[in-house]
Amino acid sequence: MRNRIRTLIHNISRDTGIQISAGMILFSVILMLASRYHKGFAQWYALNIYPIFPETLGRIFSPWPMSLFEVGILMAVFAAVYFIFMSIWRLYINNGKQKVFILTGLKKGMLLISALILTYTLTCSINYHRDDIGTVLKRPVEAVSVAKLETLCILLSEQMIVLMDNPEWTSSLQSLNDMDSIGTEAIAAMKNLGDREPSLSGYYPNPKPIYFSKLMSMMGIEGIYSPFTMEANYNNDMTSFLVPFTMCHEFAHLKGYMREEDANFIAYLASKDSPSPAFQYSGAFHALTYSLNALKKAVSIEQYYDTYEKLPELVRIQLSYIGEQNREGPVIYRDMARYVNNAYLLANAQSKGAGSYGLMVDYLIAEYKDVLEPDELL
Ligand SMILES: [Zn+2]
Repeated sequence: MRNRIRTLIHNISRDTGIQISAGMILFSVILMLASRYHKGFAQWYALNIYPIFPETLGRIFSPWPMSLFEVGILMAVFAAVYFIFMSIWRLYINNGKQKVFILTGLKKGMLLISALILTYTLTCSINYHRDDIGTVLKRPVEAVSVAKLETLCILLSEQMIVLMDNPEWTSSLQSLNDMDSIGTEAIAAMKNLGDREPSLSGYYPNPKPIYFSKLMSMMGIEGIYSPFTMEANYNNDMTSFLVPFTMCHEFAHLKGYMREEDANFIAYLASKDSPSPAFQYSGAFHALTYSLNALKKAVSIEQYYDTYEKLPELVRIQLSYIGEQNREGPVIYRDMARYVNNAYLLANAQSKGAGSYGLMVDYLIAEYKDVLEPDELL
């Protein structure tokens, strides 16, 4: 028995496929450790090596009209079901070749998984440890007072009202019916930001809608970046004014800003500076949502509603409309998505889990620090 195990281990260690898989996993682990523990490595990588991927893979996958990320997931599910079914069938008919079929299948599966782990490390995992956008843009964040947070909420909601009074508002809203034109404007908005910050310059692929967007809505997901195909995917089932900010958010991930708070703030800056009132509205709406959520955590429920009641009625109607949409569908899908998201962030050493979304509000307060003197505005 011991000899048989020894022979099996010997044969496995001499198998080229397994050696390649082990090499890819080892290389991934070394890169992950270097990005977490070697100061400066992740930032150097983000600026010098990572841009190769959006410039190459991004260009290759961009022209395809469908999300190849979604196609890949579907194919992986079908392949796994096929392999399990065929393995059981071959064990049942017992024709003597079942061992070869199962071992070959497992080896190919292992090779594919190791290649995906290495790709994920190169295009995503290392970037979680690069410098944050506040450091890159030299905008230090300060301690946030509740008074400033309340003022920020009112300021953002007033910006939304001004946008709705803009003479171009109706035509801008109509442009949101055409997802291709939102995509073109999202690329232009990000390139505009890239003129000021070089790490956001360069090539942007076409954003892609997800075919099973309804499922994303049930899970409360607005978009998803694919580190395997360099695609910025978005949910085209959600209310259209949420799409511009979402596309810019996924583009920020595509430029290597993996942390949610960084991607949110980049998307906010890109939307705010876009000439389209609908983009500016999308940015202000998301910024207001994050600010209100932060306020809700920071004060008593009475104090929160005191501020909420000060927001213009049109904005409150919009907020409750989107809030109700988010509560549609079974709670289990949203809980599942939240659980997976938290586990994913923790696996990438983002220790605060989904709670780290709060930094977006710190960035916003730093952005408006000149106009957020609470005594003057409240
Ligand atoms: Zn994101």
